Amino acid sequence: MNGDCLFCKISEGSIPSEKIYESETLFAINDINPQAPTHILIIPRAHHSSLLDVEETDHELMGSIITVANKLALEQGLDKSGYRLVVNCGEGAGQSVFHIHYHILGGRPLKWPPG
Ligand code: 5GP
Ligand code: ZN
Repeated sequence: MNGDCLFCKISEGSIPSEKIYESETLFAINDINPQAPTHILIIPRAHHSSLLDVEETDHELMGSIITVANKLALEQGLDKSGYRLVVNCGEGAGQSVFHIHYHILGGRPLKWPPG
């Protein structure tokens, strides 16, 4: 827990936010500023500032994100239309909250490369 961190506060409930998925190690919320009809954030509870902080001991947790992403994408009906799972790592890549999180985006055609 990092006392100044928005996602740590949402994780422990001191900032309220509706969790659409929760486990001991992860939770998911709808993005406050959605960039697509479905825009969900999957957030590990443990505070890592960015992908660069992930270590070998975190591999199981990181792998479980894919299982949760697939479950949420299926629930949102994105299995046919497709979805994108994105991490912005560092300011230059668009990261604005420095607690690791994965974006699920879907529900509209998604262009490549992203901007
Ligand atoms: P990043 O830019 O770090 O990859 O993604 C951070 C995301 O968090 C952004 O898409 C932003 O809209 C979202 N966000 C920022 N503050 C809040 C908040 O208080 N609640 C929710 N649900 N999403 C937030
Ligand atoms: Zn945090």
